[in-house]
Amino acid sequence: MDTSSSDDMMRWFQEVARNARNVQAETLKTILEMNHGAEYLKKWLGDIDVHNMDAEALQSLYESMVPLASHADLDPYIQRIADGETSPLLTKQPITTLSLSSGTTEGRQKYVPYTSHSSKTTLQIFKLAAAYRSRVYPMREGGKILEFIYGSKQFKTKGGISAGTATTHYFASQEFKLKQQQTNSFTCSPQEVIFSGDYKQSTYCHFLLGLFYSPQVEFVTSTFAHCIVQALGFFEEYWRELCNDLFHGTLSPRITLPGIRTSVLDIIEPNPHLATWVSSQCEELEESDWYGLIPKLWPNAKYVYSIMTGSMQPYLEKLKHYSGDHLPLVSAEYGSTESWIGVNMDPSSAPENVTFTVVPTFSYFEFIPLHRQACDTVVGAVDDYQEDDPVPLSKVNIGQQYEIVLTTFTGLYRYRLGDVVEVAGFYEETPKLKFLCRRKLVLTINIDKNTEIDLQLAVQKGSQPLLTSGAKLVDFTSHANIADPPGHYVVYWEIKGEVNEHVLARCCKEMDAAFVDHGYVVSRKTNSIGPLELCIVERGTFRKIMEHFIGNGATMSQFKTPRCITNKVLLKMLNLCAIKRFHSTAYK
Ligand code: AMP
Repeated sequence: MDTSSSDDMMRWFQEVARNARNVQAETLKTILEMNHGAEYLKKWLGDIDVHNMDAEALQSLYESMVPLASHADLDPYIQRIADGETSPLLTKQPITTLSLSSGTTEGRQKYVPYTSHSSKTTLQIFKLAAAYRSRVYPMREGGKILEFIYGSKQFKTKGGISAGTATTHYFASQEFKLKQQQTNSFTCSPQEVIFSGDYKQSTYCHFLLGLFYSPQVEFVTSTFAHCIVQALGFFEEYWRELCNDLFHGTLSPRITLPGIRTSVLDIIEPNPHLATWVSSQCEELEESDWYGLIPKLWPNAKYVYSIMTGSMQPYLEKLKHYSGDHLPLVSAEYGSTESWIGVNMDPSSAPENVTFTVVPTFSYFEFIPLHRQACDTVVGAVDDYQEDDPVPLSKVNIGQQYEIVLTTFTGLYRYRLGDVVEVAGFYEETPKLKFLCRRKLVLTINIDKNTEIDLQLAVQKGSQPLLTSGAKLVDFTSHANIADPPGHYVVYWEIKGEVNEHVLARCCKEMDAAFVDHGYVVSRKTNSIGPLELCIVERGTFRKIMEHFIGNGATMSQFKTPRCITNKVLLKMLNLCAIKRFHSTAYK
């Protein structure tokens, strides 16, 4: 992006951040004016004349009359849209596209309305983020981006509405092309590779083209960090074949889809010099367990850019390994299928410390204050937080945790997103958020309540003994087994490297002891929850799980390993892949 348009973007953002309070009131007014008369709004607001009301008065009225909603509350309306009803239900303009939220964090997929506004805000946040990044890491104009991105097939609902994941809609949109032109950085792969529908074939070609353009690659990216780690694992297996293709300008017979073959063969040419260089680099890398792979093969890359927070944190260590000591890891923006939320204004901050500055024009944001409850007061509760009334963006406090509530241009009203964030500070008048976790508990048997973060921390602590054996945790998930009384947690690990049983038994014990939730500790001491079970699964199990999700319509670009599994098919798959089981000896 040229510096003047970068500066314009940053100036625009400073202006809206400085007036965040008013901008939010105006944003809400615009949403309500646009969708005035839609059935859902009419139900709650009646015939109130939103056009002639003062923005702040409308804001108070809206908050008092429209209830907080979950996806389930809006689902009947969304379903009617999917079935082809064209009367104004959630929005005045008919919804012609629906997005599938990946749902792998919630266990099921959900439809969410998608409009041209969705693609426009995607373009806007990407340009804004690119402006902040280029200030710290200036880019060469016209450089290439090695992007591990994957579109899935768009399909039609019963009512003829096109549906697909939000990333798919975006990659297929005009805005995706505009983003490349306006930031003057171009993805290595053509649309046919992004949209092949076969992630292995796409990944192979992403690499082939990424290597072909190696000297021009300015940064390496994917939506979620997991995707890069997964792809680089694939590279470790296929690099020889890739080098052969690079040498001869050919394409491996493993690429069978005609569209992708033609498009890639149109681009590549034989490059024996580059192929020989890549091959010698890979031979060295193989000796050092692929440490520093990215800077070695893409020596001009300035950084790796991806979502590395939240459920992606467990892949950070592996990503650091592939990036070596010096290549910066830049945490990508915070958003959801429902709405974009915040931008990373400080690309040089470590992924562990990154904050996302809310863009107050994207949606109308509210925040439900959350207080972690003392455990014994909530026996049988389904959540471990106590809530206060939602507050607008201008009233949040530093250090306080909140659940985000969205009112979007796409017809979601006071919609609980289910994410827990903490306010870390402010940029002008708009908050900087630290992403904490999905609100939903992942592990609970009785009075115990462990969130995704609790599980993540326990796994992190429990896996420390692996280091002594030089082994590494590849991925993990969990299950609250209540089939065998008194019930216990099962944590599934896939490990790379050899570890003896004695070390694994220690890991199991330490992981059990690392769940510090009071309800869990008390239950373990009284044996109302049995010893934690560590189940080691064979290599490749998590890849199978990912393929299962992809087979069911998720895309690689949105995939997140589910951290708690209740689905019977997946549990069966995990148990079939089990090679060793350990039971904790903590609390004996
Ligand atoms: P989806 O709607 O399936 O694309 O998933 C959106 C969810 O992914 C959000 O609600 C968050 O829970 C998570 N997410 C998105 N961006 C980030 C981020 N930068 N850091 C952490 N989690 C994120």
